[in-house]
Amino acid sequence: MLDAIIIGAGQAGPPLAERLAAAGMSVAVIERKLFGGTCVNTGCTPTKTLIASARVARMARRAAEYGVMLDGPVRIDMARVKARKDEVSGRSRRNVERWLRGMPNCRVLQGHARLESPNSVRVGDELLTAERIFLNVGARATIPDMPGVRDVDVLTSGTILDLDHVPRHLVVVGGSYIGLEFAQMYRRFGAEVTVVEKGERLIGREDPDVSDAIRELLEKEGVTVRLSADCIRFAPHADGVEVGVNCASGSPSVVGSHVLLAVGRTPNTDDLSLDRAGVVRDSRGFITVDDKLRTNVPGIWAMGDCNGRGAFTHTAYNDFEIVAANLLDGDPRSVDDRIQAYALYTDPPLARVGMTDEAVRRSGRRALVGQRPMTRVGRAVEKGEAQGFMRIVVDADSREILGAAILGPGGDEAIHGVLDMMYAKAPYPTLQRAVHIHPTVAELLPTLLGELKPLE
Ligand SMILES: Cc1cc2nc3c(=O)[nH]c(=O)nc-3n(C[C@H](O)[C@H](O)[C@H](O)COP(=O)(O)OP(=O)(O)OC[C@H]3O[C@@H](n4cnc5c(N)ncnc54)[C@H](O)[C@@H]3O)c2cc1C
Repeated sequence: MLDAIIIGAGQAGPPLAERLAAAGMSVAVIERKLFGGTCVNTGCTPTKTLIASARVARMARRAAEYGVMLDGPVRIDMARVKARKDEVSGRSRRNVERWLRGMPNCRVLQGHARLESPNSVRVGDELLTAERIFLNVGARATIPDMPGVRDVDVLTSGTILDLDHVPRHLVVVGGSYIGLEFAQMYRRFGAEVTVVEKGERLIGREDPDVSDAIRELLEKEGVTVRLSADCIRFAPHADGVEVGVNCASGSPSVVGSHVLLAVGRTPNTDDLSLDRAGVVRDSRGFITVDDKLRTNVPGIWAMGDCNGRGAFTHTAYNDFEIVAANLLDGDPRSVDDRIQAYALYTDPPLARVGMTDEAVRRSGRRALVGQRPMTRVGRAVEKGEAQGFMRIVVDADSREILGAAILGPGGDEAIHGVLDMMYAKAPYPTLQRAVHIHPTVAELLPTLLGELKPLE
């Protein structure tokens, strides 16, 4: 019997294997497809690499604004763009595989794993048993049962990465984080792009002014945004795919050469035979865990996207840290201590930590808010990237920082000044009195805190 079996070599499994093996445990890691999982192969790494190419295209088109004269129109060689992405992503994947295969006390198996009992797992012909089982199986793009979706070719966030040409017209169904990154990127590569969103606004979980600002920046670059799409359906068309949009108002449909479905993620928990071990899932398929990421079955844990407690690489990695701390360090770390933080990698990016303004209002607290547009942030103006705004909300009574949003250049980095204060549980005057470097976006955080007004 092994000490531990880890199913999935995504963001939590490999570092946990390293900690367990270093503690002298015998470990098996089972991966059915690509080492490194979603982030490395079809998520963060390839998309952020493509976004970097798209940004260069955008800046090359804007070069004359900066007094830099480039001759002739900007051309995109999508095959080279893709090759660069494949190189960055492939290097990362190979590194994860090499790391695992070189790990003492760790056996690596390739194949689809299923549970046979609370302490046994089948991979092909082999049956492995272990005292502990860690599930790190991730999620996949959801293909919803929308009318006609089976009659046409659609792309997902995974398959779109195989394109080596720029679509004539990309229709992105789903106006949330993944869809919007692809929308802006492909517009910059030269495609006509339409975003079709069934909600009344983009990224519906954000505050309305954040959604509006993102919509404005996409529209300025020529992305068409169709909201309140109450009639989404698909039909083959001579020029590609006809996507039904609105039944009541506006043009009823749009024809795209390519369609990207970006409407959510489904956990990979339906083909694990969880029932054989008695592991419970919720109604959406996420494995139910407690604050230490233990499932209902003693000896089985679930980490990363498959437990529904986070949907990011940093949350999956933090799940590993929580499990390792509790198992190996006698440190009772809990997922409840995590502060919500993420970025939407449009350019400029949107970074968000903690509560939205709406959530603060709903909580009934007395709160103060500081906000300023990027047109009043010197660094953004100097860079010629003064779209967006920054905002911070604090509790008027406890003086704790409740949340922040930065939509602007470098916002994904600058937000960490706020996040770290929140983890330190420092009252906001601590940040207000910090002397930040000039000229930066982050230097305006103390300024915002000196301009607080009641949140209405
Ligand atoms: C387009 C896109 C962009 C993203 N961008 C970002 C970003 O910028 N920042 C960010 O933080 N997050 C981003 N994410 C989310 C991020 O990729 C995931 O949150 C992260 O990869 C989750 O890691 P994980 O370890 O839970 O699962 P995964 O990385 O998905 O790993 C799970 C692994 O388990 C394997 N597996 C599944 N079932 C079995 C089985 N039965 N047997 C054997 N192996 C199995 C899979 O093959 C996979 O390798 C993005 C996601 C997408 C799709």
